[in-house]
Order: sequence, then structure tokens, then C-alpha cells
Amino acid sequence: MIDNYGRNINYIRISVTELCNLRCRYCMPEEGIEKRNHEEMMTAEETVDAARAAVSLGIDKIRITGGEPLVKRGIVKLCREIAAIDGLRELCITTNGTLLGQYAKDLYDAGVNRLNISLDTLDHDKFRYITRLGELNDVFEGIEAAFEAGFEKIKINTVLMGGFNDDEIENFVALTKDRPIEVRFIELMPIGGGLDFEKAQFISCQEVLQRVPELESMEMSDGVASMYRLPGAAGRVGLIRPISCEFCSGCNKIRLTADGMLKPCLHLDAEISIKGHTQEEMKAVMKQAILDKPQKRDTMDADNPSQAGRNMNRIGG
Ligand code: SAM
Ligand code: SF4
Repeated sequence: MIDNYGRNINYIRISVTELCNLRCRYCMPEEGIEKRNHEEMMTAEETVDAARAAVSLGIDKIRITGGEPLVKRGIVKLCREIAAIDGLRELCITTNGTLLGQYAKDLYDAGVNRLNISLDTLDHDKFRYITRLGELNDVFEGIEAAFEAGFEKIKINTVLMGGFNDDEIENFVALTKDRPIEVRFIELMPIGGGLDFEKAQFISCQEVLQRVPELESMEMSDGVASMYRLPGAAGRVGLIRPISCEFCSGCNKIRLTADGMLKPCLHLDAEISIKGHTQEEMKAVMKQAILDKPQKRDTMDADNPSQAGRNMNRIGG
């Protein structure tokens, strides 16, 4: 569907839970978040209805996210029902990967087309530090399980943090040499736990190009990522620059939170509830939310935080 600024909105990110089995420092508070009452959250039926309403408006790509989507009870069934919607071209999941060893095959069989796995370090101690709770081997096993299950390409999302993982940029890029892995570097955003980071830790994706000058531009973008490749590599490198570059004019998505709020823009606090609505009502509200999607947001940097009004785990990154 075309919005009021001529953008084709064909993508929705649906968060299925606010809860997570990790506590990444830039995302969640150490103590986690309080589990909310069942009645406040979207039921599985409502989530599938919302997905159907979105597809009926011309949306053909859905990403399931959270919190950690794989801690959601019934996630495989939910994915199977969404994947079966006529007109849907792509169903993706963003996950921290720790439970993929258990779920990769079932998700593939349920019709999930793509996986994005968030991974910020290849070092075991640093992984434990940044996630506060995680075991890096679980993610490595998850990645292998995903390839074995049949996923042809895996995307790895890496949040760049100065003084934490900028010394690993070369190692992440090297993952793309021999396997169909796409490493996507994402600039740290001043939202949620990200607000507690030092200014110097907000580094630009330009750092990747400085450290790995062999990277060649593919002169294309994949959604919000500018694409690069090492000569002859099987995989690719994506740079996502929410801070140093503005991509509002090409934004093609809306978001739905686990408590049923439609968010036309990640970094603005405008929200519209669709919980408790019929599918037809959801469709009408969604249509208006797409039409009203703001043209752009204000500049965001360490001094000018996101106006999202929620942490990332409560929006769905
Ligand atoms: N739990 C899943 C995961 O980690 O992939 C899905 C939800 S998580 C909120 C989605 C993405 O948001 C992750 O790739 C995470 O790194 C990113 N994210 C969370 N807080 C962020 C921040 N302050 N700046 C940049 N990215 C952030
Ligand atoms: Fe959980 Fe993902 Fe947030 Fe990390 S980034 S705490 S894995 S929701």
C-alpha cells in the first residue's frame, strides 16, 4: 500500500513477546521486565488476524520478532499459520539464536523463509558480558542447526559498539568468505539500554569500511542496508546506519507490538491499538496508520535520543 509520501509499505514487523532469555546491555534492564497480564497482550489468534489484515493491504513481508520470539509458547504453530496466508511472499524471524538448535528445523518446516540472528561478538567471555546471561556456543549451534534445517542464507546482525566489538569487525567480515552468511553491522541506537552507553561507543558504520578496505560496494541496498562484498566471497556485508544516515524516505515498514500497538515509526511514540478488534477493524486501523506514517523523524544521536517511548524489546527491532 502506498502511504501519503509515496512510499510503498509492504513490510510489517510483528513482535510476539516482550520477554527474553537474554539481557543485552543495550536493550533490556539487568533485572528483566515484569511479565504483563495475559489480557493485555495479543492472543495468537489476534496476531494471525493482524497478519492477515496486513497482507490484505498489500504487505507481503512479515518479520516475527520480540523480545525473543523463540521463548514464546506456540511459536512454531503461529509461524505455520502466518506462513500459510495467501499473498505472503516472505516470513522471517529475528532471533538471538540461542534456541535455534531446538527450533530451526520446525521453523523451516513451518514455512519460515529467512532467519536473522543477532550476534555482537565471537568471544565467549564478551558474549556473556554483553548478554549478561548467554552462552555463545548455543548461538554457534543454532547457526549450524539453521543451515542443516535448510535455510540457505543466514543473516547475522551485529550492533557496533566502540571499545567492545570494533576490534572484531575483520573477524565478522571473514565469516562471509566461504559461506552464504550476510553480516549486517548496525549502529548502536540511543534507545533502551543504549541510552546508558558512553558517547564514544556510538561508532559509525564507516569504521567497517576503514578497517576492511577490500570491501567492494555492490551499488545496491537490501531494505535499509547498503551492501558490500569481499572479492569472491560467498556471503555479503550490510551496513545499517540509523544514526549516521537517514533512511526515512525509503522506509517501507510498520510495526506491531506484542500488546497490540501499531507503530508507524520505530523512533516516534505514536501508537494505535488494534487489540480486541476484528480482522476487518484491524485492517481499517492499519490502513489509516499507513496513510498517517510520518514523513521523517528527527535526527538521532547520543545527545538526541530516540523518541520511541519504549525499549527495543517492547517494540520489536
Ligand atoms: N531477541 C531478538 C534478537 O535479539 O534478535 C529479537 C528482538 S531484538 C530487540 C531485535 C534487534 O534489535 C537485535 O538485533 C538487537 O541487537 C537490536 N537492538 C536492540 N537494542 C538496540 C539498540 N539500542 N541499538 C541498536 N540495536 C538494538
Ligand atoms: Fe533479548 Fe534481543 Fe533484547 Fe538481546 S536484543 S535482550 S536478545 S530482545
